[in-house]
Amino acid sequence: MTISENLNKIKSSIPKDVTLVVVTKTQPVEKLMEVYAAGHKIFGENKVQEMLDKYEQLPKDIEWHLIGHLQSNKVKLIAPFVSLIHSVDSLKLLQEINKQALKNNRIIDCLLQVYIAREETKFGLDFMESEKLFYSEEIKQLKNIRITGLMGMATNTADPEQIKNEFQSLNTIFKKLKTQNSSIKILSMGMSSDYSIAIENGSNLIRVGSSIFGFRN
Ligand SMILES: *Cc1c(COP(=O)(O)O)cnc(C)c1O
Repeated sequence: MTISENLNKIKSSIPKDVTLVVVTKTQPVEKLMEVYAAGHKIFGENKVQEMLDKYEQLPKDIEWHLIGHLQSNKVKLIAPFVSLIHSVDSLKLLQEINKQALKNNRIIDCLLQVYIAREETKFGLDFMESEKLFYSEEIKQLKNIRITGLMGMATNTADPEQIKNEFQSLNTIFKKLKTQNSSIKILSMGMSSDYSIAIENGSNLIRVGSSIFGFRN
């Protein structure tokens, strides 16, 4: 199947209120242009430099989402154009995003990345840390960022029950924060292998790469 056939197949299989972010990491700009030509304009990259290179070469009405780990010293590079940062995992990073957003006269939307998988990872906040950060006094001072939701990645496992439990646990905190704060709207969960389970368990934004482009090298 072609890229646009894969794209349309996924789009027609997900509910209308679920946003699809097409994950373009490692793909050449020609392939991104196929997605763009098919009418899709929301792209996700996990590396700053790769996002910058592609941003420069591609049409300017594309919405760029940063989905991978972000180092504070690189925030200034994407602050002029990034639409959503999915991977916020510290107050220090938020403060830097706020500073760079202010310089660009913007408000940058951010998701807190919450650690739900049983795998070892260096990135993400645990449940307690994410609530603590969300309710902190320091965050209230940051006028140029807006926390609009949560992002999580399930364990890479063939066991659908485990994946479901992990997504459910994140949905529980999401719903709790949402009832208390009207800016919380986005629950970013689900990739090629598990987006159906994610949607069944509350996801309203999925990040899909290999189901559209084929396997990455
Ligand atoms: C690569 C990546 C995806 C997409 O993964 P696929 O399995 O190719 O759909 C989603 N989210 C993040 C954070 C990623 O790094």
